[in-house]
Amino acid sequence: MLLIWRNFGEYSHCEVICLKLLRSLPWRHIFDTFCALALVLLLAYAALPFYRSGPLPAEMPALPVELPTQTALMAGYIVVLDAGHGGADGGAVGTKTKVVEKGLNMTVTRLVQEELQAWGVRVLLTRTGDDALADTKKKDMQARKEIMNTAGVDIVVSIHMNKFTDASVKGPMTFYMKGSEAGKQLSEYVIASICERLEYPPRHGNPGDYFVVRETPAPSVLVECGFLSNAEEELLLQDSAYQQKLANGIVAGVIAYLQTLPCPASQLPPSPPPA
Ligand SMILES: [Zn+2]
Repeated sequence: MLLIWRNFGEYSHCEVICLKLLRSLPWRHIFDTFCALALVLLLAYAALPFYRSGPLPAEMPALPVELPTQTALMAGYIVVLDAGHGGADGGAVGTKTKVVEKGLNMTVTRLVQEELQAWGVRVLLTRTGDDALADTKKKDMQARKEIMNTAGVDIVVSIHMNKFTDASVKGPMTFYMKGSEAGKQLSEYVIASICERLEYPPRHGNPGDYFVVRETPAPSVLVECGFLSNAEEELLLQDSAYQQKLANGIVAGVIAYLQTLPCPASQLPPSPPPA
């Protein structure tokens, strides 16, 4: 190594001193070995990027801009969520804690709304706060009906808490308009998934004839989340983790039902004008 250096001719003053010090054989061997090692390390470092990246293909395939997701598949569906009661009409009252139904209905409705929107579903609410939609019960129900009958609505979900004279009666229930096959199917999906989330024995939907399931052309389900007349359930219905499970169950049933539909009603081509 030193011989190579010497061929470059003149040395600086410092280099001459260094070379004099290195004249003894052991020091020269050590210095030569050090230089050789430094050269190897320098070459290895320079080649590192090639080992890391590997050979590049001639043409990289273009990545898709957006991968299709389940969320995208649910976009376009419209669901009306109806939080039962409101304003002066508080609905059922808890036997022990005196909790009022209308507030619990709204809490569960908001949780369902949040989750459905995360799926890409468009949500319409009948009431958005504590108040009713009108001064009288009749006008309130008429205002709800108008929202439920909005063009393009795929399904309607009305959320309530139950009450009964027998305090031992408990558990979630769903109702559909008697005679409506689509309503029955929706009702079955929703009660099945609620029972699953709450680890409750499976139940069937029930036929009924209530305003919210009758006065809408879209398949509609009335969800009775549980009984405020049952001491155990009265407390559970006020528990945030239990409310979240309820909402998860409702959403899972709604999504399962929507997935059976061929295409969002709002995305169907407009019907031709009458001849
Ligand atoms: Zn109610």
